[in-house]
Amino acid sequence: MIKVAVFGAKGRMGASVCQAVEEAEDTELVAAIDSGDDRSAAEGADVVVDFTTPDAVMDNLAWAIDHEINTVVGTTGFDEDRYQTLRDQLADHPNTGCLVAPNFSIGAVLMMHFAEEAAKFYESVEVIELHHPNKVDAPSGTARTTAGKIAAARQKVGMGEVPDATQSQLDGARGAVVDGVHVHGVRLRGLVAHQEVLFGAEGETLTIRHDSMDRVSFMSGVLTGVRGVLDRPGLTIGIEGLLGLE
Ligand code: NAP
Repeated sequence: MIKVAVFGAKGRMGASVCQAVEEAEDTELVAAIDSGDDRSAAEGADVVVDFTTPDAVMDNLAWAIDHEINTVVGTTGFDEDRYQTLRDQLADHPNTGCLVAPNFSIGAVLMMHFAEEAAKFYESVEVIELHHPNKVDAPSGTARTTAGKIAAARQKVGMGEVPDATQSQLDGARGAVVDGVHVHGVRLRGLVAHQEVLFGAEGETLTIRHDSMDRVSFMSGVLTGVRGVLDRPGLTIGIEGLLGLE
């Protein structure tokens, strides 16, 4: 049994992770820790799963790495500086692993992977992300990442700019431009998290669409991370490698 402690256990994601860990046959929930709780209850864990806040996560990870506990991190707000801090801390604990994944939904990861594959075959591409109206940021992190991967794939094969003859427009009519890719945001009551990547070439289009209907969609990726981090010392970013997509 893999002993798992969850940080952020009373939050929306953390509560779902606690349930998923309790339900899986090979994992055991040994500590459910939220803000203000004593972290020492997690000391015997093999893996700490962190779904807290960008302000809290680095301190939690420093504590876990110091105790040589592997970590699986879904909390957002990571940049290259934060990744480097983790690499430096992990260097002193060579048997400890830390997996940080901006998206644990296997469908969303596959969508980005397929979009990256398709990008080099299509002259035109646009991204539409669709979310519930309570979301505070736009475009979504997944849409930004997708656009970045598409742009890198296009650059690799020497593709030029996406064709667009627009000369006049109302502000925002063509969406935001992320690394040269137009990204459109829809906010609609009733939606959860959805994304379409539209590709176009002479005489054909290809649409790749992913729909998250429930937070439960992240759990299979989190459990894959919990199992996979045990054999991956050092810093791993994203679950692509664990899914054999790299
Ligand atoms: P949430 O409902 O606000 O939950 C966060 C929880 O963490 C709260 O219960 C909070 O307690 C607690 N917390 C704060 N500081 C803590 C600390 N130092 N130690 C332990 N617990 C602490 O947020 P959420 O929707 O679950 O999302 C959590 C994070 O996951 C966010 O960064 C979100 O963007 C990210 N996320 C990632 C993915 C992914 O696939 N990677 C998917 C969904 C969400 P208080 O409320 O008392 O402060």
